Amino acid sequence: MAQAARDRLTRGYAALAGLERRCFQTHFQEPRSKGWLFDTLMTPALMYAAAVWAPGITEAMWTRIERPQITMISRLLRSKPSVPHDIIRAELGTPPMLVEALFQAVSFVHSLWDTTRDRYTRLALESSRQLALQGDTSCWFAQMTSWFQTHGFTMDRRPPFKYSLQTPLMYLTRVEITRLIRQDLIQLDTRRTWIEPTQELGTKMALYREHLLHLTTDGFVTRPSYMDTHQSHALRCAIGQLRTSSHQLEIEIGRFRGVPSDSKICRLCHLEPETELHYICHCTVYYEIRGCFHCLFREGFGPLSRVMSFEDQRCLGLYLLEEHRHRDTLLRRAGGRQSQRQITDFFTPGTGKLEEQSFWPSEDVNSVKQGCPLSPTLFGLYIDEITEYIQRARGREGDLGGTPVHILLYADDIVPLSESQEGLQSHLQALDTFCMERGLTVNLGKTKVMIFHTSRTVRHRASFTKAGGQIEVVDSYVYLGVTFSGSTGVFSMAQAA
Ligand SMILES: [Zn+2]
Repeated sequence: MAQAARDRLTRGYAALAGLERRCFQTHFQEPRSKGWLFDTLMTPALMYAAAVWAPGITEAMWTRIERPQITMISRLLRSKPSVPHDIIRAELGTPPMLVEALFQAVSFVHSLWDTTRDRYTRLALESSRQLALQGDTSCWFAQMTSWFQTHGFTMDRRPPFKYSLQTPLMYLTRVEITRLIRQDLIQLDTRRTWIEPTQELGTKMALYREHLLHLTTDGFVTRPSYMDTHQSHALRCAIGQLRTSSHQLEIEIGRFRGVPSDSKICRLCHLEPETELHYICHCTVYYEIRGCFHCLFREGFGPLSRVMSFEDQRCLGLYLLEEHRHRDTLLRRAGGRQSQRQITDFFTPGTGKLEEQSFWPSEDVNSVKQGCPLSPTLFGLYIDEITEYIQRARGREGDLGGTPVHILLYADDIVPLSESQEGLQSHLQALDTFCMERGLTVNLGKTKVMIFHTSRTVRHRASFTKAGGQIEVVDSYVYLGVTFSGSTGVFSMAQAA
């Protein structure tokens, strides 16, 4: 059983990787369609023959099987890993994988009972039932019965609950019965999770249920409207992160450090604990921003649930982004340390600036940010072979203290050296060829030539070209903090200004 589940998990992850790769390539982050793609491509891969293997697997294995679905939704919202899985699922309004497995199992049992008595499958069912009645707990029927019991129904009374298959006046087609089974199971799950939870809800779950969860009258989780609103990924993340407590407010950071809630005071206004309500509706620091988004507070500053379910979710997203940006600026000015979120944002393509990001592909995706520590490494990898190109070019190399040197490389600086004009020009041509073959470009404005010679005429008569452009000849040049002077032929340490 466990092996079958593990195989499914491997297939499921392979399918998820394919799905995520394609979505990333096409910059596709629309939640509804992604959820639909998940149901169409992933669920069958994960849940194949679940009716057979699902009853026998352990609780820990179930958690692992739920993981791909949670990963997919978490990525959509960029939520923290500590968010309870039930909240993550409620954001997309999807039932857990367990419901899918139960659905398959119940449908399977129904179809077994529907077959005629002389069919082998029916005979197998009967014999398994007999074994269970005799007290064998390892047979399929016994395992299925106890699995059903843990989830609130029995083998004798299984979904659909509303209509019995034997009801003479009501004839239901197979499709209708299937739909009813699914609905009953989803209702059961919602009741056990949100309406009548089997155990006390945690702080996050309680906050979510009180302010953010929307249930229909017949007990279904409604997908929040921001998921169905056409807006950019950044706006959706801004709303989603606040809803799932994946923010950096004091109330959340303090929770991780075990600080009592009275001490999680807002670091900007120092008036009261920095809760979600304080941040969105009360904190005096964001007074002006609230003025710009007055439509959100037309009916007053609160309650949180009303503001968060404001009809124009795009407006709410813009407000949250603006507030987030303002908070970061103020905290940085106050000397606060950089939050982990900011550091993570730095490395996530297109999120360095918390402005509204375009839904469509941007050039940012293929570059590193200014000052990124990865930059010199990438540069090193790219130009690794340049020395060979320069070596192959004809011309005598420069001479530093008796050692022949043809090129100096440090971080992202390249200095080709030669004892003659022709030699240096051939080095430059080699550099051109090298760049052209790799699709690189050299900034001509930052490229200079310096000639070490006492005669000014010699120094200024020569001319050099690169990639069709003229290179400026200069009299001195600072390289790694050292000033090289062309006229004296020697160099002196750069003086601090
Ligand atoms: Zn405050």
